[in-house]
Amino acid sequence: MPGGVNSPVRSFAGVGRLRRPLVITHARGPYLHAGRRRLVDYVCGWGSIIAGHAHPGVEARLRRALARGVGYGMSHQGEEDYARVLSERAGLAMLRLVNSGTEATMTALRLARGHTGRELIVKFAGGYHGHSDGLLVAAGSGAMTLGRPSSAGVPAGAAAATHVLPYNDLPALRAYFRRHGRRTAAVIVEPIAGNMNLVIPAAAWLAEMRRLCSRSGALLIADEVMTGLRAAHGLVLRERFGVEPDLACLGKVAGGGLPLALLGGRAAVMRDLAPAGPVYQAGTLAGNPLAIEAGLATLRVLSRAAQARLARHTARLCEMLCEEAAAAGVAFSAQHVGGMAGLYFRAEPPANLAQVESCDQKAFRRFFHAMLEHGVLLPPSMYEALFTSLAHDERSFEQTAKAARAAFRAAA
Ligand SMILES: *Cc1c(COP(=O)(O)O)cnc(C)c1O
Repeated sequence: MPGGVNSPVRSFAGVGRLRRPLVITHARGPYLHAGRRRLVDYVCGWGSIIAGHAHPGVEARLRRALARGVGYGMSHQGEEDYARVLSERAGLAMLRLVNSGTEATMTALRLARGHTGRELIVKFAGGYHGHSDGLLVAAGSGAMTLGRPSSAGVPAGAAAATHVLPYNDLPALRAYFRRHGRRTAAVIVEPIAGNMNLVIPAAAWLAEMRRLCSRSGALLIADEVMTGLRAAHGLVLRERFGVEPDLACLGKVAGGGLPLALLGGRAAVMRDLAPAGPVYQAGTLAGNPLAIEAGLATLRVLSRAAQARLARHTARLCEMLCEEAAAAGVAFSAQHVGGMAGLYFRAEPPANLAQVESCDQKAFRRFFHAMLEHGVLLPPSMYEALFTSLAHDERSFEQTAKAARAAFRAAA
């Protein structure tokens, strides 16, 4: 396996090498186990685990499903049940199930281009939307830049149609639309950014994005693969900011830890997908019955009351960390939205990528390694958000608090 892993972030390159490599043997509740080592897990499958590892309700439903066969390559009742639950919860009139967030966003862009007959796409610096060619484009910081690929192997043509604007920057957004609005197929945005650590934008920026898209005929795509169902009951963009997307992408929590993602939205747009319409998309494993059962079982556990409890616990975690940092004299801030949080080694939470980059990376690394030594696994990069689950309890909280006391001293 190149780099020894199947997804780059698992190499812990963001925090330097580990003293002992982490190879997970099993997971239960709030814990990951690596042989005899037990770690409080704040990675939670990069956000895909929210009920807790090996949740009894999810496990029981999976066991029952297993006996009915693991895949049919044909339509089945579970797809309809899932579509009904999701369309109600996330307010999506029509949806298509896929296997990964990457597939969902890639398809949403193709659909937007097919629907509008336009080519240009807008994304924002620090936004991650999976690894399809046209979306692997990051900005130079500061001013609006024309797309340049951020990976080898991306054709210049695929990147050139992607414009990158600074996140949370109203004037840059307006300037772009004045010049290119009429040629733009879609704007894709994480309504709360979670892939440059956690960044909460101004509501006015998102509202203006909606207005400019509507006026110019571009589609607004909410990439809620991370935030959807975790930082809101359904969509963050609608529930927190009162903004309605044309299309939304969900993943991670949507499959309760199994490979399941989806795109959905207005029927007039979604009907352009094959076989109803001319935009092609397909999947051998799409709507996999096991993934659907895990998703349904997870969403059943994830009631409004459970989500409120998760948000309270996550708030308390952030408060505790800020107190311990202050006691150790470390410049630090933290904030949360539902079951996700940002930890920043700077005095105030950041508002964009440049401010995230200004965090004290050395302090973060010392903190990360000290936490790990004390049995707490944080996301291994200062550009990742932290995730909590319903299984995180008083005991894991106490362990985290104790570890944080020592780790902030190490970071100071
Ligand atoms: C994780 C993520 C993706 C990609 O999902 P994969 O399942 O890893 O392909 C896309 N968009 C956002 C916002 C994500 O957090």
